[in-house]
Amino acid sequence: MNTESNLIESNYRDLKKLFQKYGYKDFKFIDPEKIVVSQWVRMKCMYGCGEYGQNASCPPNVPSVSECERFFREYSAAVVFHFDKKVEQPEDRHAWSSKVNMKLVKLEREVFLAGYERAFLLYMDSCCICSECSKERENCKEPRLARPSPEAMAMDVFTTVRQFGFPIEVRTDYSQQMDRYAFLMIE
Ligand code: SF4
Repeated sequence: MNTESNLIESNYRDLKKLFQKYGYKDFKFIDPEKIVVSQWVRMKCMYGCGEYGQNASCPPNVPSVSECERFFREYSAAVVFHFDKKVEQPEDRHAWSSKVNMKLVKLEREVFLAGYERAFLLYMDSCCICSECSKERENCKEPRLARPSPEAMAMDVFTTVRQFGFPIEVRTDYSQQMDRYAFLMIE
């Protein structure tokens, strides 16, 4: 781990223990200044992604790119959680994502209750808590659990996580291992 991550982590030893209690091993504390926000990410959502307009936590149901950038700058620390998986069928990805994200959102609540009032989670995939998404924010079936993904918040996840030595590559089919990342913003 680099010195900067060590320094940030030293301010959040209580949280590190909590993450370990949840069974997480592959995570790093980072400076949110290093989170890269890019317009191209939003363009990829708008053109080419089947979730656009079909998920109540994805664009266009999210803040503008500049508002996303402002949001990240309001935090002094963030935690990146790495998850990897191979799936038999592409559609198996949703059940895995839902399980991982449900556990993460419980952790976010514990972090909040520990006194970190700004705790906010970005799911490791688009919100797939419900088997069928309402598609519109105002009709969200689980508004307390809905969270955007880092990509929905215009984060360039590739550039961001590579700075910390995490693996990430474009995958050409679902039989290859996926590397996914969730972010927990803390203050
Ligand atoms: S909680 Fe359910 S309805 Fe709301 S955004 Fe997530 S999947 Fe869609």
